[in-house]
Amino acid sequence: MTDGGLTDYELGKYGRTFAPVKADCLLHDHDVVTPGNMRLVTLHHPVHSKGSCSYLFDVEDDKRSYKDLIANMPSIIIDRKFSEVKAYSAIADYYAYVLTHMKSLSFDIWLASHASQFNLHSKHLPGDGYNPEAFIDRAGFDAELAQLGKDYDKKLEEQRMSLFI
Ligand SMILES: [Zn+2]
Repeated sequence: MTDGGLTDYELGKYGRTFAPVKADCLLHDHDVVTPGNMRLVTLHHPVHSKGSCSYLFDVEDDKRSYKDLIANMPSIIIDRKFSEVKAYSAIADYYAYVLTHMKSLSFDIWLASHASQFNLHSKHLPGDGYNPEAFIDRAGFDAELAQLGKDYDKKLEEQRMSLFI
């Protein structure tokens, strides 16, 4: 944050991609932040991008309360092997942690940082009315996590195979 992304393990190759930020405070795993009358639980899920988090929070409408997850899905953004990422040497371990930890989460509504990661465009079409049920999709979440787990295993396997070349 303080160098505008210059030292990011992957996006740093594009140089400074945002104005440097001086944080008022730094959040840690399971810290709670309370913007307005919301209560966001921070989950340290530092993959895809280093420093990323997921968030859990409750929302209510006139029918019921929903436990929402905004998930930082553990998709892999590098072409290189994990072992080549010198600027983030714990990256592979963090992927393993996030993949496991996410499976243990309970929630009603699943959202993610990128629309495509939770199929926003098929769940909510332009003009669709208010329908939180469209985002109640544990099976979709589990399937997406399973696919990302396979991507992770494949990456590790490629790394193992390259040791023999
Ligand atoms: Zn992204």
